[in-house]
Amino acid sequence: AVPLVVAVSTSLAALNGLLIRNRAAFERARNLQAIVFDKTGTLTEGRFGVSDVVPLADIDEAELLRLAASLEQQSEHPIALGIVRAAEERGILLTKPEEFRNLTGRGAEARIEGRMIRVVSPGYVEEQGFDIRDERLTELAGQGKTVVYVTDDDRVLGAIALADVVRPESFEAIARLKAMNIRCLMLTGDSRAVAAHVAAQLGMDDFFAEVLPHEKADKIREVKSQGLTVAMVGDGVNDAPALVEADLGIAIGAGTDVAIESADIILVHSNPLDVAATLGLSRATYGKMV
Ligand code: ADP
Ligand code: MG
Repeated sequence: AVPLVVAVSTSLAALNGLLIRNRAAFERARNLQAIVFDKTGTLTEGRFGVSDVVPLADIDEAELLRLAASLEQQSEHPIALGIVRAAEERGILLTKPEEFRNLTGRGAEARIEGRMIRVVSPGYVEEQGFDIRDERLTELAGQGKTVVYVTDDDRVLGAIALADVVRPESFEAIARLKAMNIRCLMLTGDSRAVAAHVAAQLGMDDFFAEVLPHEKADKIREVKSQGLTVAMVGDGVNDAPALVEADLGIAIGAGTDVAIESADIILVHSNPLDVAATLGLSRATYGKMV
């Protein structure tokens, strides 16, 4: 039988929008020492708006955006949604891509009017041997903007900078967790510059950037191997293996089905402050082990 205090806590939790799927994991929450947060969609809103379109070849802004958005129509990535919306807002007509393919954690590619177009991360472009040093783009990245590159078969056509906003609740959530003596870390596939910007804004203890989807669980293992009891908070398909690997997996309610099915606890209101509430409730229910 479930002790009364635990039954009451689980109902209290549900009333506050915390869905506990795994009671043993909820009990472990009282002894957490570190929490790893996914960035996009978890600490931030995950809604990207295009702020700058920067041609780097003989092409104008509208054409650059047209090629990128035509390709991104087939992707559900938050960056893709932002690029397509920007093209629509400017009244740009899109064409239908062929042979579309996701380059997981790096971008996407497709054939547009016969040319192979890619919209990809800075890391991917550098791996392809392109030199993308550019003062203006370095500055945009330093402001915390996510910069993606548009390439064709043999050239970098240009770059698109996008801005996402930190969820207002994230600031207090991190402050409260740090006051509870919990190490707060951030994990992202985004660039080092953007990660550093967001981590500094929120006062995170440390961050992992440019992490490919299949490496996210490895980072959780790395934190565990330091002897820390660790939670992972995430929303995306990419986060699922890390949610499973963590001592406590917490999914954001507005996240993907895969993340929700991989989690021990679901934050129904998608509010990072509820992470601190979960820990508080676990400590109140089971007592903090010291
Ligand atoms: P996150 O950790 O923020 O969920 P992802 O692993 O989804 O990041 O993506 C990592 C990086 O790969 C992005 O910052 C971006 O540079 C690039 N990327 C991924 N998907 C796309 C896409 N559809 N269009 C453009 N860039 C993409
Ligand atoms: Mg995410």
